[in-house]
Parts: sequence; C-alpha cells; structure tokens
Amino acid sequence: MSFAARDFANAAIVAAAVARASRQLRPPPNLKPSQWAEQNVKIPVGNAIPGLIRFDNAPYQREPLDLTADPSCHQITLQWGAQVGKTLLALCAQGYRIGQNPTSQIMMQPSQGDLQTWLETKFNPLIDANEDLRSTIAKPRGRDGINNQRMKSYPGGFIMFSWAGSPKTMRGRSAPFIVCDEVDGYDRTAEGHPVSLLWQRAATFEDDKKLITISTPTIKGVSFIENAFEQGDQRRFHVACPHCGTHQPLKWAGVKWDRDEAGEDLPLTARYVCQAHDPETGEVTCGRAWSDGERVAAIRNAEKMGAGWKAAKPFRGHASFHLSELYSCFRKLSSIVQSFLEKKAANDLQTFVNVSLAETWEEHGDQNDASELMARAEEYAAPVPQGGAVLTAGIDMQEDRLEVETVAWGLGEESWSIDYKVLWGDPLRDEVWEDLDDYLSQTFLHQSGAQLGISAAALDTGGNSGYTQAAYEYVRKRRGHRLFAVKGGGNWGSPVVSSPSRKRSGRRARKVDLFTVGSNEAKLIVMRRFALTTTGPGYCHFPRDRDPEWFDQATAERLVVKHIKGVPYREWYQTRPRNEALDCRVYAYAALKIINPDIPAAVRRLGVLEPPRDDIPDEPENTARPKRMPPRPSTAPKNPPEEPNAAEPQSKPKRSARSRPRRRISGWVNGWG
Ligand SMILES: [Zn+2]
Repeated sequence: MSFAARDFANAAIVAAAVARASRQLRPPPNLKPSQWAEQNVKIPVGNAIPGLIRFDNAPYQREPLDLTADPSCHQITLQWGAQVGKTLLALCAQGYRIGQNPTSQIMMQPSQGDLQTWLETKFNPLIDANEDLRSTIAKPRGRDGINNQRMKSYPGGFIMFSWAGSPKTMRGRSAPFIVCDEVDGYDRTAEGHPVSLLWQRAATFEDDKKLITISTPTIKGVSFIENAFEQGDQRRFHVACPHCGTHQPLKWAGVKWDRDEAGEDLPLTARYVCQAHDPETGEVTCGRAWSDGERVAAIRNAEKMGAGWKAAKPFRGHASFHLSELYSCFRKLSSIVQSFLEKKAANDLQTFVNVSLAETWEEHGDQNDASELMARAEEYAAPVPQGGAVLTAGIDMQEDRLEVETVAWGLGEESWSIDYKVLWGDPLRDEVWEDLDDYLSQTFLHQSGAQLGISAAALDTGGNSGYTQAAYEYVRKRRGHRLFAVKGGGNWGSPVVSSPSRKRSGRRARKVDLFTVGSNEAKLIVMRRFALTTTGPGYCHFPRDRDPEWFDQATAERLVVKHIKGVPYREWYQTRPRNEALDCRVYAYAALKIINPDIPAAVRRLGVLEPPRDDIPDEPENTARPKRMPPRPSTAPKNPPEEPNAAEPQSKPKRSARSRPRRRISGWVNGWG
C-alpha cells in the first residue's frame, strides 16, 4: 500500500475524528446579543411578561443591545425614561458577556444602596432564572473562582461591582466592558468624575473597550447623560403614522387631552396626534389622532416600515439613544397624562420631565427677585391666617446673634411667614439662649381664635466650633422639646433631612442628635416655592409689615453652573453679603420635615374649633356653617397625599378673632421652659 493509498484509506476515520473534535471545539454559534438573549434570558416570574425575553414589546432595545457586541462601536449612551427597559437591556448585554462572549466587566451604580438593590432585585434573580448563566458563574464560597458582593467570576472573566460614591471600590479596577447605570446620580470625587476615571483606565484595552452609560437626565447644563447623548450620534426612534405614514419620533407635544366646561382635565381622553408637518411653514399637515393600540402597533412595526432608530449626526464610534416613556408598550397614554397632572399639582414637574420624558429640566428664575416677592406681601387677617396649621421655627446662629423665622404650614405645604426676629447676644453667654427660650415658648393667635405654639424648631449648629458646642449644649438641655440640632451638608440628591448622627456635647454629657440638612436640595425647594405666583400647594405668603431687608436676604443666592475639569456642577452662589433669612427658612422647613406632622389633621382640628362653643360637634359639616374642609374619613392614612383642590378658601372669619375665647391647641409642645 502506498503512502498515499494508506492515507486515503484512513480518510474516513480521520474525517470522523475531525468532525467529533470540531463539534467540541466549535465556537458557540455566532449570535448577536439580542438573538442570544431571546434564546437564553428568562425573565423571572413576577414580572410583566415572565418567560424568555422577546423584543417585540420593546423593539427599540435590539439595536443598542446588538451594538454592545459591534467592534466599530466603543461608546453607547442611553438617555432613557422610565418603563422602557433600560436596566433589562444592560442585563442582557452583561449576560452575553458572561454566557456567550466572556469578557471582564465593571458595573457601577450611584451608591452602595443602589448597587445592593440592583444585585438583589435585578442581577441575582436574572442569573437564578437562567440555568446556563447560573452554572457558568462561580459558586459562592466555591474553590474555583469568586462570588461575592464585590465580584463574580466565570470562565474567561469576571464582573466587578462598584458605586460612584466610593473611590475605594473603583481604585485600581479596570475592565474592557463597563456599564454605568444612573450616571446623573453620580457625585464627583476628589479624583474626578467616576465615569471618566473608569474610562481612562480602560484605555489599555484599546479597541476592545466599551462604555455603556445609562440614565434618566436631571438638570440642563449639568446632566452627564445629556452631555454624553449630544457627543454621540443622537438617535431617536421613529414610528410611522397609521394614517399618513409619515415617520416621526414620539414627542410630548403630540400628546393631547380634553378639558370639561369647568376646565377640569380629562386624562382618559388622551391620544397621540400625528406631528407630521410642512418643513417650510412648520404647519401640521396630518394632525390625526392615534389610539393607544395604534401607537403600540406603530412602535412594534416601526422597523418593518423602514422607520426605527435614526441618527442626527454621523456615527464615529459613539452611538447615543434617546427614548421617552411614550414608547412604553405597557403604559397607557392616559396614565402618563394622569402622572403629568399629578406631578404638576404637586409642583414637581421636574420629576415628570426627567423620568417620563427623559428630558433635562431647565431651571427658570435661578434667582428670585426681592421686589417681586415684596410686591406679593399681604395683610394677614390674623397673626396666623386660617390656612396655616402647624408652626415651625428655623434658627440661624451668628457670632453676635440668633435669627429666627417662624413659619405656618398648611395643606400642600403652602406656607405663611409669621414672624422674624433677631436676638442679639453672644451665643457663648446664656442671655441670648434665654431669649430664645422665651421666643420659642410663645403662642400665636390663629384666625380661628386658637393659640398656636411652635411645634418644632431647628437650630443651625454649623460654623465656628466654639459656637457649635454652645448650640449642642442648648439643645441637650432641652431634650424632649422638639428642638433639633441641624447642620447643612449633603450632596445634590440628598434628602432634606437625613437620619441623625450622635454628637457629644461636653465630656460626660449625653449625646445630642445632629440632623444633616441637604442644603442644596432644600434651598432649591425653598427657592422654587418663593417663585410661585399662584396660591395653593407650595405657595409662600409674606406679611406686608416685613422689613424690606428680609426680602433681600431671602433671595440672596442663585444657582450657578461651574465647570471643574471640564465637568459641570451646580452650586449655590451668594449674591448679597447677608442670607440669614434664606437659611432660617431652610431650617424651618427642615424642622417640619423632621417632625413630619399630619398637616390635614391639624387643619381639621383648627376647623373644628369654629364656632368656639363648648357643645361643638366633632364633625364640622354637622353645623349650619358652610363647610370649610371636605369631610375626611377618620380612618384616613396618617399622611394622605396632599389634595391641591382641598385647599381652603381664604374667606374672612365669621366673627372678629378678638371676640373669641382663646383656645390653646394641644400640639406637640407643652412648654419650652
Ligand atoms: Zn399622520
């Protein structure tokens, strides 16, 4: 047998061996991430549609997901709203990098809490629901690999978890595949912006590196995600009008609804109106309404109709996508309109604009005008007008004085500035604190005839440390008096008041609870409310006899945008030498937030006092008087959502306040002494 013939005779055996080997060595089928996800990613039970993921209900997820495995694309930006599946999209991309195309990755969240929540409610359930992914990832406490809260490993890589607030979880870490979620919630660290730091370190991976940033946006000018969107190729999802066929992105301007004769909004009439227009004149050419079903069908069929994602700029390695909640196939347009109306009534349109429309919020009137505020000052019918039901005080400490504002709060946190006092004296000596005792223990006459005490006060302890100790000392001696030590601090996004830390005042003394006031956010709330011009929730009333200097101080700061290493940040900037009035208002608001009183109940109690007779019934509607308040069930939750329409009419009292017997409302304070 010749060499060739022998070779030939073995060919069949060789071929079989090669085929066997190649079956084992064969790389996994060349699947796009969206195809892999539809075969592998099971949505855990308890979600809208459990089972294998299908992109039919969210076809806009396919393109950005597939780009996460496209070698020509290095950066993907999702400026997306709620309810369109941005977290799920990222999970599919991450799962693909575990199960199909193993790569080392980093996942970043704004805070440790956010990371914990994401692990427990998103990542772990997704892995648990998928046999292949579960068996790929190392076992907890196993010998081969790592599986803990910081990192999970798998053959070919690992996924590391970090949060923006912790330089420690970022230090020295790098990986080619990076997902940064809710980037507009990241605070700058001393070393720079967390996303930039991760991205710089990924430079060593050259062409393999990939950065996916995801967020709902925040404020115009400082939003990280909007800035990133603008640097990318700016894709918007176009859909075809079911009537005229024109391709167009869905816009809030196209959402219409009716009002009844009384001007009440009717969200159930919500519909989308085709925005096709003449490019020359801007005139709307179609204007026909789509039903919810037509809107959803237009989204599902967009790509088949040749619409879908369209970029505004040429692609240069960075694909950026904008998507609002109007694209959600799970939400009715009427419920989006309902949410708009609710946010508007609660004076919180920013949340709707950011979260639903995925647009940045433009701050109008970033500084209030003192003369405009003064022009709205009014004559009060009583020291505390009818609508005000709970009094709080805010105290600012200076080296030679204390300044105090007392504020009355009503439904929807509508407020009345009741009093402003400067108590002169050195805070290191007792006299000024005794004056403060006297001030805080006084009562104010309410329009109903009741005498109202101050329910809570917040004392600023910041500044000079000697004075800080004096303030702690004062608060410590008055435990149980609803007097709270506060200090300004916190980043953007911090709550108005955080749970207290314990500070020692003096050597053997008991500790004092020190509350941190999120000054940035609290000032923004105060500033926006000062700017309101129609009475109702949030509106601030000022008395006519208030010193003009107070209005200057109350408007002494403006919000500015600063750039640090090219990254924009918002900051308060003081435009006048004195701003104590503004600080006092912030602390009075903090005091309200600390005690979190049931304002509607307090309003009801004051209503009950009228007319002031001993045989008054419990329910005001049982009397012949016109109703002041809508009846509420006695089983109402402690803090029901404020009803803007329930605000009281500002009618005059039926009798002179002076002719009434004075009743003391038993509030939270039983004397300050
Ligand atoms: Zn049309």
